[in-house]
Amino acid sequence: MTPLDPQALGRRAEAMLEELAAISAAPDQLIRLFLTPEHRRAAKLVAQWMGEAGLEVSEDALGNVRGKIGQGPRLLLGSHIDSVINAGIYDGPLGVVAPILAVDALKRAGMKLPALELLVFGDEEGSRFPSTLSTSAAIAGAFDRKQLELKDSNGVTYAEALRAYGKNPDEISRAAIPRGEAAAWLEVHIEQGPILESKNEPLGVVTAIAGQTRLSLTLTGEAGHAGTVPMVLRRDALAGAAEIALLAERIAREVGDHMVATVGRMEVKPGAVNIIPAEARCTLDLRSPSDAARKAAIQRFVQEAHAIAARRKLTVRTEPIHEIATTPCDLELQKRLAKAVEAVSASAVRLPSGAGHDGLMLSKICPIAMLFVRCKGGVSHNPAEYASPADMGLAIAALVRFIENFGARP
Ligand SMILES: [Zn+2]
Repeated sequence: MTPLDPQALGRRAEAMLEELAAISAAPDQLIRLFLTPEHRRAAKLVAQWMGEAGLEVSEDALGNVRGKIGQGPRLLLGSHIDSVINAGIYDGPLGVVAPILAVDALKRAGMKLPALELLVFGDEEGSRFPSTLSTSAAIAGAFDRKQLELKDSNGVTYAEALRAYGKNPDEISRAAIPRGEAAAWLEVHIEQGPILESKNEPLGVVTAIAGQTRLSLTLTGEAGHAGTVPMVLRRDALAGAAEIALLAERIAREVGDHMVATVGRMEVKPGAVNIIPAEARCTLDLRSPSDAARKAAIQRFVQEAHAIAARRKLTVRTEPIHEIATTPCDLELQKRLAKAVEAVSASAVRLPSGAGHDGLMLSKICPIAMLFVRCKGGVSHNPAEYASPADMGLAIAALVRFIENFGARP
């Protein structure tokens, strides 16, 4: 077994993350978008680290940095180096730095590594183009070429940005890893939520990437004078929408089991202080690690929303905007990961991921797993994002144990 010093690994991870964080489009905040000069600089730095760790480094047609060791079906590791606007420094890069340090530790100890490949994605957040997970989709052979026409806020298309980055869009299909060559995908990521912190545990084994349903709702009532129409005669669309927002909250609370529901947007017409609202449009985002529970909750939500509208003499129209099924993490990989976590820290908390990740795409070609690291206050997509060197060190140590066992598997 490789000797491990989690403290030292955590400190090295922090230093590397800070070096990466300095690569930004703005001096006072972290902004690193897909196919920009910052992406190029970050990719170069990561490629250098990967080379130093003994990986055979290359770059594919989407700018994914890739580092291989060995032949045959391989363990895929990695994460993304693009960021949201005004990001934290851990979301993505931790999952890049952790396997580099794990591979380095294993090599230094003279351990024989299993065949593996480190993948460093550039379009996870969808902050530049209205696309997301497009770089991992290419790895899974599921890149949608319609995305090449998408434009960023300056009118530059995805295809133009690729060419400016020195890439040929016609070569994207070559980035794919054939099904038989991918043994498994494992990503280390900060939790981006408060569960591990509340349980006082540094590491969590992800059970599934939650499925989600998004609906848009339009309630129609009748405008009227705010001073003259008696309460009992009103058909107030906003009051109905407010009741429906509370309904979403109540359903998710009653169901439990990590279900979350959010009404994040509401528009009111005519939107004047002295007019009864005639129309309210709002959205629902409902997520659950169980597709059956999510579907049942949506059905109940729509039914009860109609009942609320009817009681208030409003009409309601619901339209689906987006639906994605739950992606379960592989049970055998979860077991192996939990064993690796238990070997270095305490108990491995099992929890679902409410956020989407590149694993959604990788699951098309191989079984997937994710290791979550506690982050302060559950805060993410925010410069206040923080994971301690001690926790990161434990994650890397667990990753080392996981890779060792992966190599030794029957
Ligand atoms: Zn991320």
